[in-house]
Amino acid sequence: MSDINLISVNNLVKHFPVPGRHNARVHAVDDVSFSIKRGETLGLVGESGCGKSTVAKSIVRMHKPTSGSIFFGEQDIAQLKERELNAYRKKMQMVFQDPYSSLNPRMTVLKLIAEPLIAQGVVTNAKQAKDLIIEILQKVGLSAEHTFRYPHEFSGGQRQRISLARALIIKPEFIVCDEPISALDVSIQAQVINLLQEFKYERSLTYLFIAHDLSMVRYVSDHVGVMYLGRMMEICDSEQIYKTPLHPYTLGLHAAIPIPDPVAAMSKKQSAIEGDIPSPISPPQGCRFHTRCTQCMNICRSEEPELKDVGNNHLVACHLFDN
Ligand code: SF4
Repeated sequence: MSDINLISVNNLVKHFPVPGRHNARVHAVDDVSFSIKRGETLGLVGESGCGKSTVAKSIVRMHKPTSGSIFFGEQDIAQLKERELNAYRKKMQMVFQDPYSSLNPRMTVLKLIAEPLIAQGVVTNAKQAKDLIIEILQKVGLSAEHTFRYPHEFSGGQRQRISLARALIIKPEFIVCDEPISALDVSIQAQVINLLQEFKYERSLTYLFIAHDLSMVRYVSDHVGVMYLGRMMEICDSEQIYKTPLHPYTLGLHAAIPIPDPVAAMSKKQSAIEGDIPSPISPPQGCRFHTRCTQCMNICRSEEPELKDVGNNHLVACHLFDN
């Protein structure tokens, strides 16, 4: 780990037009800021529709941000043109939730893993990269005999290993893992997590690890950010988020983590969040969480709380911590 930020996101905004509604916009991400030091993992957590995947896709420039800056090292890549982005595409890769839909079913493993190398001009065809591909397959726990098979011939866990090999083959510095274990059996999830951790230390990789609940990011993250309806609600080191969570939404996410012991589960004090997430087309005034917050006060309905440090680099956006 180092003290130098590899990724710095500042006041990121991403709005999408609503088809058929001229002035309406989906407020997918609003004024989100955070940084990730080289060699660290930031876990980004929140319910479906909170904007975490849009943040990730904006960083790897699958989406062009509406406004804000995204620094990769010293360079702001937020507004770079497609041609200027090539040098950064090699340094950033993404692993998706569903390896089956992210892998072309008509391509063999050899061609799938060669594709990023060909796109970056490292080789001109898959055969030239065969030795390199076999080496990376072995590193992710597969073997040379898998090179001529197709994605449907593998289990979910094996397909995610292929996705990982495809991301690693061009030696990126930064990988976005967008819910990489959510679609896998519990027994396979740990294997994929262990692989990610091995590569993190071996190659000093930096990760943004996205998940919809706190339990999934626990063992991989150095820091954890909690998003709700396009906003960052809380961000701190991972120990604090589990031992001393502060934001009422984070407390609700804690309550949603299943406890394997039925006696302990019955004595659990926190209660899970009720109600549905409001529409991101017209997010609530004031605190965006106020329609579901059990501690809502008058000020919460009119004034949006700022994300501020309440000590030890623990940032919270909630009026309960205004003083
Ligand atoms: Fe709840 Fe108010 Fe804090 Fe929002 S600002 S989380 S509504 S207490």
